[in-house]
Amino acid sequence: MKALELDRARQTVRAVEKPKPEPAEGEALVRVLMAGICNTDLELAQGYMDFNGIPGHEFAGVVEECANDHLRGQRVVGEINCVCHQCAYCRMEMPRHCVNRTVLGILNRDGAFAEYITLPEENLHIIPKRVPEEAAVFAEPVAAAFRIPEQVRIEDGQRVVVLGDGKLGQLIAQVLGLRTKQLLCVGRHRWKLDLLAPLGIATALDTDPIEPGADLVVEVTGTPEGLNRALELVRPEGTVVLKTTVAEGAPIDMSRPVINEISIVGSRCGPFRPAVEALALGNVEVRPLISATYPLTEGPAAFERARQKDAIKVLLQP
Ligand SMILES: [Zn+2]
Ligand SMILES: [Zn+2]
Repeated sequence: MKALELDRARQTVRAVEKPKPEPAEGEALVRVLMAGICNTDLELAQGYMDFNGIPGHEFAGVVEECANDHLRGQRVVGEINCVCHQCAYCRMEMPRHCVNRTVLGILNRDGAFAEYITLPEENLHIIPKRVPEEAAVFAEPVAAAFRIPEQVRIEDGQRVVVLGDGKLGQLIAQVLGLRTKQLLCVGRHRWKLDLLAPLGIATALDTDPIEPGADLVVEVTGTPEGLNRALELVRPEGTVVLKTTVAEGAPIDMSRPVINEISIVGSRCGPFRPAVEALALGNVEVRPLISATYPLTEGPAAFERARQKDAIKVLLQP
């Protein structure tokens, strides 16, 4: 099959031929219809997680082989953490923290920048008919946005600030905007923020004056300064959610969260069911976020495009 492999020396990917993967017991063979390039993939190319192999964890595909008749032939998206069901965290119903996990395209498991992948059947979710593949491919980052209301109670009328106007920031603003109308998305790019205006989401440039005292601030800038900014904007006894892994560390004024008794919550992968439902209902609008679609074999050009300042989401089509 055709696939893209990390080329860490050049901080990109290269097109390769690989053997088609064989599904193990309980796994399905999925033909990839569409895959999305995420910031994590760009970081993997720069050495993050020390991953070698085929990256890609955002995909929509069709099940070609599996023991379950209900799934065969269906279009699916898939949860990326593949877990053991045996370890202490699996038994505590925290499978995303399984100590033996593999993660699609990130940790010890080849990913979706390929014609085929394998995933446990239990990870797969059928895509509703009215959701096209180019929207379904956003299920994973939309699920990551839905992780926040699982972790933090958000009531209507509470003030939420989302710091960051990139792919994930935009999705988080849309998802949290379903819970409270008092939401502000802050970013560096007027043109990106303008994509949120038709959805009724208030926006501001990070150079604009912003009223502090928010109940919840979500840090999704991917920059070292983001956390300090979040700590300035949150109210005493409020919550800061950290949603991006930042490659380089930054000095943080840790006296502020102590004095103001701020909860800092790390947040990673989330539930697929509400994500797929939101895409089907049109509660989350993803198509304006697509900057370009490339054939899989043009992976290096797609990665280059994804790094450009005027790109949001770049898709790959096998
Ligand atoms: Zn991602
Ligand atoms: Zn486990």
